[in-house]
Amino acid sequence: MGGASPSPRPGPSGLPVVAIVGRPNVGKSTLFNRLIGQRKAIVDDVPGVTRDRNYGEAEWRGRRFRLIDTGGLVPGAESDVEAHVQRQSQLALAEADVVIFLFDGKSGLNPLDRDVVDSLRGVGKPVVFAVNKIDSPARAAALYEFYELGLEPLLPISAEHGSGVADLLDEIARRLPEAPGGEAQPGQAEGPLCIAVVGRPNVGKSTLINRLLGFERSVVAATPGTTRDSVDSPFDLKGEPCLLIDTAGIRRKARISGRLERTSVQRALRSVDRADLVIHILDGPEGVTDQDAQILGYAHQRGKAQLIAVNKWDLMAKNGNRSEDYYRREVYLKLPFLEFVPVVFIAAATGYGVAKMLETARDLLDVYRRRVSTSLVNQALRRAVQAHAPPLYKGKAVKFFYATQTGVRPPAFTVFVNFPGAVPEGYRRYLAQQLRQELGFAHAPLRLIFRARREERKGDRR
Ligand code: GDP
Ligand code: GDP
Repeated sequence: MGGASPSPRPGPSGLPVVAIVGRPNVGKSTLFNRLIGQRKAIVDDVPGVTRDRNYGEAEWRGRRFRLIDTGGLVPGAESDVEAHVQRQSQLALAEADVVIFLFDGKSGLNPLDRDVVDSLRGVGKPVVFAVNKIDSPARAAALYEFYELGLEPLLPISAEHGSGVADLLDEIARRLPEAPGGEAQPGQAEGPLCIAVVGRPNVGKSTLINRLLGFERSVVAATPGTTRDSVDSPFDLKGEPCLLIDTAGIRRKARISGRLERTSVQRALRSVDRADLVIHILDGPEGVTDQDAQILGYAHQRGKAQLIAVNKWDLMAKNGNRSEDYYRREVYLKLPFLEFVPVVFIAAATGYGVAKMLETARDLLDVYRRRVSTSLVNQALRRAVQAHAPPLYKGKAVKFFYATQTGVRPPAFTVFVNFPGAVPEGYRRYLAQQLRQELGFAHAPLRLIFRARREERKGDRR
């Protein structure tokens, strides 16, 4: 990266980004929920995914920003998931304009805190330090050992009770970069679309990528311990310039097969992080495995456009006992949260189905970036609610006031509602499905964000 001046570098939504970091259990999620108030994006329950970055939006004295809650910085992380969480925290740091570092005032200064603080000095971002769980004046004595670290500013807060949080927000707001040209313009000038081809070892990723690129690319041997784990190739998707993220072209020398599986999942998750569209390859004869569900669930949670390509369909056709419709139903039965994702059938080795797969990919990327007018969104919302009303909440009607599209890549809708926390998951899915159908977002992942109107928010405080 060039040594340019610290210019405003807004996140994908166009808003500045604030990341909350700190060890597990210091209260990051509690603070995250408090800062975003009732505006929490409802995230699906996804199998196989423990904790990841959590995104939300917050506002303080008229400044809006995007907030990232990280899974926690764990030096020397061991398990697959821990290592991934660790990596996510680093990504969050890289993305952030301002960092909130949380200490735990209840358990006291932890030796690991010093290491993390040291590592933060290197990132060159403004950091606001806070000691959490200072719930009462009596607890304030716990602050002194943290003062020893000589960090500035260092604020006592209670994420649970809210004390000190306004001061914390003031310190953050002071450090936010100027918003470029005022209001956010999501989805603009974000560089080429990235497509990742992922799947378990031997499902046919290399075969497919060779076919897509039209030549045998050589397999690059990655040195263990280097960060290089994919090669990007420019790729023309029916007139749309894309980058193909190729993890299959890298072979690591893995001695134990367990390790091969593990690094392959990690690599898949990393390419998912960078992708707009994920082409997930299944081995036709084998079907959906737990690892597939884990990667698919992760990509879904990250709001990626996804396409499932069932490969080696030549073998299935030969055995002749399963139709595409039957297979597709089985996939959806195993992955009910992905019932809107297209499932296509290919034989990478012969080229069967590949042209159709690319057409589906192209259509999907178009809707992934699609924007519709607020009036259309509201008509669709009204029709959906009329056709099927939401269940009562504590005996009261849940009312949807209006909705508007607030993002692309993935398409996001903010829906104003009297009780934002009272919309059940099933109803959220119903609404998403209706908006998908009515507004031409077929096959796209949609984010629905339920918010209270200002009146309700004021009402809550009374
Ligand atoms: P994370 O792992 O850093 O995201 O931490 P969580 O937000 O999940 O919180 C860990 C635990 O600390 C939970 O039991 C919280 O209820 C508790 N906690 C969070 N904030 C406070 C606080 O301000 N005071 C007290 N006493 N407990 C808190
Ligand atoms: P990767 O590990 O996911 O990159 O998988 P490869 O592309 O190396 O393919 C693994 C094996 O599956 C190789 O032996 C391929 O020849 C075979 N294969 C790939 N695509 C097909 C296909 O469409 N049909 C059949 N029958 N075999 C395939």
